[in-house]
Amino acid sequence: MMVGKERAPLPVVRTERGKRVCGHDDNFKILKGEPPAYAAKRREKWNAKHCFSCNAVIQQKMKEEATARRKAKKDAEKEDAAYFASWKKRLPDGSAFSATYNATDVMWTGTLHVPGSAPVVGAGATSSKLLHTLARTWDVTLTGENES
Ligand SMILES: [Zn+2]
Repeated sequence: MMVGKERAPLPVVRTERGKRVCGHDDNFKILKGEPPAYAAKRREKWNAKHCFSCNAVIQQKMKEEATARRKAKKDAEKEDAAYFASWKKRLPDGSAFSATYNATDVMWTGTLHVPGSAPVVGAGATSSKLLHTLARTWDVTLTGENES
């Protein structure tokens, strides 16, 4: 059953050997009745693409990288949650922070001012992540300088 305006692909007359961008030889399909200008454009795109096996490797690599990124993000969130679950301190009285949202970078940047400490600058994807990052940086800086 034909659906909507779908057209049957043009029949392949023959194939021509050509080089893909990855350097591998591959078969370029010459289609029956295809205007030369269209064929030239299609050939240009075909040349700029990887061959089937290189593309499969690239796809697999991208998939693995995405999985690794998701895992790293999850691990970081877990570590952050564990850190704050064990954090018994509170920021001192008079602590204040300012935050600015950058819609282009989809990122919050801000500064934490704790009385008696140097200001701490940081960034986060959400305002609460920013505040967590700032508090954590302040804590690490503080405990690094003086263990009280
Ligand atoms: Zn290839």
